[in-house]
Amino acid sequence: MSTHVLTAVAWPYANGPRHIGHVSGFGVPSDVFSRFQRMSGNRVLMISGTDEHGTPIQVQADKEGRTPRETVDRYNRVIAEDLCGLGLSYDLFTRTVTGNHYKVVQELFLALHRNGYVIPKVAKGAISPSTGRTLPDRYIEGTCPICGFDGARGDQCDNCGNQLDPADLINPRSRINGEKPEFVETEHLFLDLPAFAESLGQWLSTRTQWRPNVLKFSQNLLADLQPRPITRDLDWGVPIPLDGWREQPMKRFYVWFDAVIGYLSASVEWARRSGDADAWKAWWTERDAQAYYFMGKDNIVFHSLIWPALLLGHNGKGDRDGRPGAFGELNLPTEVVSSEFLTMSGSKFSTSRGTVIYVTDFLREFGPDTLRYFISVAGPENQDTDFTWDEFVRRINFELANEWGNLVNRSISMAHKNVGAVPTPSAPQQADEELKALARNAFDVVGDHLRRSRFKAAIGEAMRVVGAANRYLSDQEPWKRKDDPERRDTILHTALQVVSDVNTLLTPFLPHSAQKVHELLGGEGVWAAQPEIREVEDLDVAGSVYPVLSGDYAAEQARWESRPIEVGRPLAKPTPLFAKLDPALGETGPEWAAIQ
Ligand SMILES: [Zn+2]
Repeated sequence: MSTHVLTAVAWPYANGPRHIGHVSGFGVPSDVFSRFQRMSGNRVLMISGTDEHGTPIQVQADKEGRTPRETVDRYNRVIAEDLCGLGLSYDLFTRTVTGNHYKVVQELFLALHRNGYVIPKVAKGAISPSTGRTLPDRYIEGTCPICGFDGARGDQCDNCGNQLDPADLINPRSRINGEKPEFVETEHLFLDLPAFAESLGQWLSTRTQWRPNVLKFSQNLLADLQPRPITRDLDWGVPIPLDGWREQPMKRFYVWFDAVIGYLSASVEWARRSGDADAWKAWWTERDAQAYYFMGKDNIVFHSLIWPALLLGHNGKGDRDGRPGAFGELNLPTEVVSSEFLTMSGSKFSTSRGTVIYVTDFLREFGPDTLRYFISVAGPENQDTDFTWDEFVRRINFELANEWGNLVNRSISMAHKNVGAVPTPSAPQQADEELKALARNAFDVVGDHLRRSRFKAAIGEAMRVVGAANRYLSDQEPWKRKDDPERRDTILHTALQVVSDVNTLLTPFLPHSAQKVHELLGGEGVWAAQPEIREVEDLDVAGSVYPVLSGDYAAEQARWESRPIEVGRPLAKPTPLFAKLDPALGETGPEWAAIQ
């Protein structure tokens, strides 16, 4: 039976290129999951885009001497290219400056407002005494009132991670000219989060299959929910569609508010582009559809509490009840899949400190599947994980190249040299049957892990079959069976069948090399489909053209099953699947990645 599965992937912030820490948290895991779900026959909608509003964009734009729009145009493209290069199979990777996104954000807000879950409150806003202009949060720094760190920003302390209000900072000063800001009263709109405490608690109590740390963390926050501001004094963002608000150039939705609604707006945009404007509903309003959200651990609260609260408010399901808004009754997340952090040499990846490896540099030198392999087998799935070049080189050389690459190469080489095609098997022996059964049974075992987002366990099981197949070849020694070609051909046929099965098992992880193995085994056509960048015109703003990531995944042949290989299919001499890396790289890394 086919299920509609929404893969909702965290939105990268468009203020710079992505480093490998970013894609290890949200990128590769969500793509492995989506590819597996498609191979299992489910209808996947994988969506995301770049998050492009807010003060950090304005800060970055000022630094670059550009407008915010020019800055996000630049990084939207850079990020889309990074993710495309990694082979992340988005149905739509879009952005938050589109006319469609603005409309969906405003529509969802109006439903919240109609149902009574938006409350106005007077708050303190900062202005610059010398210019009289509003000073956005991030332009203010000072000492954190919680931990005492002296470089805290007006909206957040990078040291303790707490959200702040600029008026709370001790010794606040402007980052533009160092002057002390003046605080004046300003009205803002707040989401009445406490009105959802009970509904959220009931819903969370049904989420028993979540990773325990995510569930516990979310439940602990329930007792202390506070109204949360959804507007800001800022001119770069989505306008507020209420009389008295929409005319004010310095009142916009807070960036977190518009970005999290991107999951819905991207789904709607995908549907509008597909020719069936209602097609998104199968993932959002059908009760048996599933929705999986992928992100780093610093984003859990937005996906386990705040986004569900917005959905409940839109549906009219908080303390004040209400009626569903324009989108109908929307589904809450099935699961929130969060990962931990990838660190480098013990410290968090940071562009400012120079501990950074950009995706684009990595792909240019090593290609996508080595990074996908490393993240899957050694990434920060359950705990913070240190990236070291030494471990990267070791895993690529000893696991990917020596184990998997070598199994593919010697199985196909021997069959090519001796038969020139997939050989005909005869009377199978116990060892042959055992190995084939191990590979066949792995579909259930690996599939079960993947359904539950246990990527390390899943790829570990697939690699266990690779190890068994290599031992089988060493034991059976087909190269010594010149005078018994029937037995030799049976062994080679067994090895090729297992290579074919393992290639299917590894396809979600290593889609690029899986396509190559498919071809080395004599297959034709698309085995694992890849995304591509398409230039599209904004559906609501004539003349605005931007790149999106999309793909034709229905064309791919890979199915989550053991498929018998075809006897007699011609086999050419294989070329190596993975190049071995220079062990010296393990000591320092490539020159471009040296820590500055
Ligand atoms: Zn702090």
